[in-house]
Amino acid sequence: MSEQTLEKGTLYLVATPIGNLEDITLRAIRTLRDADLIAAEDTRRTAALLNHLDIKTPLTSYFQHNEKSKGEFLIEKLRAGETIALVSDAGTPAISDPGEDLVRLCAEAGIPVVPVPGATAAISALICSGLPTGRFSFEGFLSMSKKSRKEHLANIKNHPYTMIFYEAPHKLTRTLQDLYDVLGDRRIVLCRELTKRYEEFLRFTLSEAIAYYKVREPKGEYVLILDGATEIEPEENELNNLTISEHIKHYTDIGLEPKEAQKAVAADRGITKREVYAAMLAEKND
Ligand code: SAM
Repeated sequence: MSEQTLEKGTLYLVATPIGNLEDITLRAIRTLRDADLIAAEDTRRTAALLNHLDIKTPLTSYFQHNEKSKGEFLIEKLRAGETIALVSDAGTPAISDPGEDLVRLCAEAGIPVVPVPGATAAISALICSGLPTGRFSFEGFLSMSKKSRKEHLANIKNHPYTMIFYEAPHKLTRTLQDLYDVLGDRRIVLCRELTKRYEEFLRFTLSEAIAYYKVREPKGEYVLILDGATEIEPEENELNNLTISEHIKHYTDIGLEPKEAQKAVAADRGITKREVYAAMLAEKND
């Protein structure tokens, strides 16, 4: 199948880049160019992409706060034979964005839906995580409501497969702490700024990740890849069984500055930085 003309009265779900503009596919460009209308979650961001691609197709907004009224409007247009391309603000539509509802409406109305696949942050992160990819579950964003967040975490506590979470930077430290508190210590890979200039894969245990962000501010976009419940959960932080110097070395080895490492050790042991320093000197003098 190549270079086909678009079908009338069809919704095309078009994936767009999650950072690197070269990640648009040839088919996505053609679909965006040939559609009658593009429905976009973030019209400003999509307008910039269309401008870059020199595409002049009319653009309309379809986002969380107008999805009900706009959904009906788009269904009417589809019924009238128009071809619509749906794009998310980045990545694959209908993954953690309102596209899901429009697809449900189409399915209910018997309107054809066609995927135009491409980038998605979840899969890009998973494949680089080094954690098992054979079986995994996509958990999306944890709710900010205390009750549903607690229920979600309790529900996945014994989940044996790799889990994928989306998270905003300003909520990251709370999420890491909640995951640690409910699920225990286990491996996590923080996949940051995928396909962008400062792309980074931080391979930690949850306790290391918490310590790392005690002395740093989370920045950029994150996908978290978390190990399933296959590891033995330590009753307490095993790092506290090391000598103070070994404990500090553990953190400098994963990239913390000596001062940051001392701060992280103090946090792990529930003591002051002054006490860490004193204990370090005492070990040296032994
Ligand atoms: N539909 C999108 C997809 O296919 O990945 C996801 C939309 S969701 C509203 C946005 C979340 O995806 C962000 O908060 C972040 O967790 C993740 N994300 C998107 N782009 C990313 C990137 N370049 N690097 C890391 N995470 C990203």
